[in-house]
Amino acid sequence: MARSSLIPTALTLLAGLSLLGCTKAETEDSVVDSETTVQPGLNLDATQTLERDSGATVVVYDFGDLWVHNYNDNPANGIGNATYVVESESSLVLIDAHFFPESAADFRAYADSLGKPIDRILITHGHPDHVSGLASSFDDVPSYSSAGVISEALADSGSVIENTLGASAEIDGVNYSFEVRTGLEASEQVIITLPDYGVVALGDLFYNKHHAVMNPGFDGWISALGELGSADQSLFLAGHGPAATELSAVTEAMGYLETGRDTYATAADGEEFTATMLAAYPDYAGPFLLQLSVDEILYPAEE
Ligand SMILES: [Zn+2]
Repeated sequence: MARSSLIPTALTLLAGLSLLGCTKAETEDSVVDSETTVQPGLNLDATQTLERDSGATVVVYDFGDLWVHNYNDNPANGIGNATYVVESESSLVLIDAHFFPESAADFRAYADSLGKPIDRILITHGHPDHVSGLASSFDDVPSYSSAGVISEALADSGSVIENTLGASAEIDGVNYSFEVRTGLEASEQVIITLPDYGVVALGDLFYNKHHAVMNPGFDGWISALGELGSADQSLFLAGHGPAATELSAVTEAMGYLETGRDTYATAADGEEFTATMLAAYPDYAGPFLLQLSVDEILYPAEE
């Protein structure tokens, strides 16, 4: 949200507070908040980062009455899976389940440490790195996704997702909406949005500062990101790499895919493609996933 549009919002808030007879201190706090948060609701100053013994990192985003916990897998695993706990007043909703059993177990242990029941786990797409941990660590938790994701998870890794999502749900007083996109990074992908908080889980459409598993359908993927990301959202949840509080991170991910598309159009072979992408994005995590794109999808060895 632009600063200029925050000013009338802050004035309206102040007028409301004075009618309610708030103290001066509370009024001053609300002015500070309006200048330091991306959007009313997300208090960036309250963001906490925790290091797990496993080497994983958890970043907790505070919306006042809702917390989004971003669990990033131990970087030594090399695939940088990001999963999430949405904590509301009385329960937890999890997003995605990891590939490595030890990562799934540590993510489960973290969720359990919050001391609230897990209402369900939502799955963004059916690739093994997002569903394989279901069986080992979440078989007592109701799992949900779209019909196409449920089929792909079963076919790819034998992972069972029990329930089919509708277009929306209210869980513990929080509104969720679910939009299905097909033929992009995965054959089907569920975009999870918390419209009242400006939170959007983009799954593996959004690799944040992380090499992606690419396929020749670059253009559809780039336009989907352009349509789904908007400047008035406050938190963009990635499938690999950390969540982002600025739309510019999503724009950068689109630029990465544009570079991939243009390199794919001109590179002589997989080796040149890999070298060009590594040189263009030297600081990105997960070169293993770039190599997977080259070997398995973009330049498969001839049978
Ligand atoms: Zn993934």
